[in-house]
Order: sequence, then structure tokens, then C-alpha cells
Amino acid sequence: MALHTNSSGQTVKAVEAKIGEASFLFLSEIVVLACGAINSAALLLRSDSELHPQGLANASGQVGRNLMKHQMTAIVQRSSPNSGTFLRNVSVNDFYWGNDDFPYPMGHIENTGGLLQDVIFAESPPVLSILAKLMPGFGLEQLAKRSIGWWVQTPILPNPDNCVRLNGKKICIDYQANNIEAHERLVYGWTEVLKATETQRSGVYPKGEAPMQVVAHLVGTCRMGLDPSTSVLDVNCKAHHVDNLYVVDGSFFPSLPGVSPALTIHGQCTAGG
Ligand SMILES: Cc1cc2nc3c(=O)[nH]c(=O)nc-3n(C[C@H](O)[C@H](O)[C@H](O)COP(=O)(O)OP(=O)(O)OC[C@H]3O[C@@H](n4cnc5c(N)ncnc54)[C@H](O)[C@@H]3O)c2cc1C
Repeated sequence: MALHTNSSGQTVKAVEAKIGEASFLFLSEIVVLACGAINSAALLLRSDSELHPQGLANASGQVGRNLMKHQMTAIVQRSSPNSGTFLRNVSVNDFYWGNDDFPYPMGHIENTGGLLQDVIFAESPPVLSILAKLMPGFGLEQLAKRSIGWWVQTPILPNPDNCVRLNGKKICIDYQANNIEAHERLVYGWTEVLKATETQRSGVYPKGEAPMQVVAHLVGTCRMGLDPSTSVLDVNCKAHHVDNLYVVDGSFFPSLPGVSPALTIHGQCTAGG
């Protein structure tokens, strides 16, 4: 799949797509990319040409760069029996802008919802396996009904070396987390809060950090900005150097907020569109 421009290189003329074994060209006055932060960047890089040797819309060299995702740790709190199937219903932003000891943003905390209902089984199986060791003889369902899960998430900061790049046809990701102290302080701070509210006084809070393979909150590979030499998109999500190309997904973020990104993506794309 690739985007092809007209002879001036300023307008996308056709979107080439492979369906089955056949290639098709789709023509449109406006072209909107919304493949998510990894695949939109990869598609622009793959759409290089003589007029766009670094990839389409990439005169700034920023396409694919500044890939960001939350550092996410799931903490399990032992609890009195619950249904295991309740919705996510508590959000905590008390640490969002830091605290007296650490005057920098630390992030956001929310409960996972019941462990039989939501994402811990899918995204942090190590947490429940630790719990299983602590409470031998319990089935996973029984464990889940005696636990409450918490997501503790901290943004990483934009770094141009964290990037999506192509190696031939293969998509490669270079990624090194940063802002680690802020996350560790948030996890520690929240564990202290849990201990202070604990009625059973177990003092044990199994936790597991979501690995890179959990690509749930990826943003930032086509950052927006006012300066075309340092950004890919303008404030309406239109590519600076291409007249009819918009990127309307998580790619536009210039930095990552502490909160989850979907509503911001939706809002920005609605405003831009
Ligand atoms: C388990 C899970 C739980 C989450 N929970 C929350 C939450 O509670 N709150 C929150 O704010 N966020 C949450 N997120 C994150 C949120 O879903 C993402 O941030 C958001 O969906 C990203 O939107 P996007 O448009 O950038 O990409 P996506 O939603 O990933 O959309 C990209 C689309 O492009 C398609 N695509 C990719 N490549 C191509 C191609 N070459 N051709 C055609 N189509 C293509 C994909 O199939 C996909 O449909 C969660 C994510 C996961 C995985």
C-alpha cells in the first residue's frame, strides 16, 4: 500500500491498495490516513518518491519519530469478595502534576474494573500468576473475585530516537522508555495509599508492568506543530507539505498526556475534520 502524488508532489492523486493479489488505485480529492501511530507513519515512509525521498510529508524528517506510549503498571489489591464483573469507575489525578517531593507530572491512576470483566487477563497475565503463587489452591476466577486491579500510567516524553522505521518492507520499532522515576514514584505513592486504606493489612501488592508488545496507547509519530521544519501536521491534522492529506489518529500528539488518549484523538479529529 502506498500514496502517490501528482507531478508537483503537492497533492495525493491516488491511494494504492492491494486487495487479494490485485493492486487497485483509489482516487479522491481529500485523503485521510487513520491507520494508528505505527501504520500511518509506516505508510508515509513507504510512499517515498523522487520528490519526497524521505517519505511523503516528511520534509521535516519527523515522520515515525517521537513514538510515545504510557508506562503502565497493573497493581492488584486483595479485597473482600466482589463480583469480578463491575465497570471501571474510579479515576485519580491527585499525582497528575506531581507532589511536594517531586514537582513534575507523574500521571494518572484508575481501577481496571472487575478482573473478570476487563483487561488484566488480556494484558497483564503475569500479575495474576504472581497472585496465584501468593494464594496457592485458588483458581483464577476465585482470585479475581477477591481482588481489585489498578492501572497506574505515566507518560513518556517525546524523544526523536523512539521511532517507527522501515527496514525494506519490514516495520521496525526503536523504543526506550524514559521518565522512569516519575512512574516509579507514582506506583510507590499509590501503593502507599492502598496500604493506608487496607482493612486486611496484607501489605502485599503484586504488580506487573505492561511490556512494549502491549501497544495500547501509542501516539506521536506525525507530531503536529506550527513550524513545518519540526513537525509533520498543522493544527488541523493536515500535512504541512501536502495540500490534501490529513492524518487523523494518535500520530498527531506532540507530547503524551497522563490520561488515556482515545477521547483526545476523537476530539482533535472531529475538530480537524
Ligand atoms: C485493550 C485496550 C484498551 C484500551 N483502553 C482505552 C481506554 O480505556 N481509554 C482510552 O482512551 N484508550 C484506550 N485504549 C487506547 C485506544 O484504543 C487507542 O489510543 C486508540 O484507539 C488509537 O486510535 P487510532 O485512531 O490512533 O488507532 P486505532 O484505533 O488502532 O485505528 C487504526 C485502524 O487502522 C487500521 N489499519 C492499520 N493499518 C492499516 C492499513 N495498512 N490499511 C487499512 N487499515 C489499517 C487498523 O485495523 C485500525 O482499525 C485501549 C487500547 C487497547 C488495545
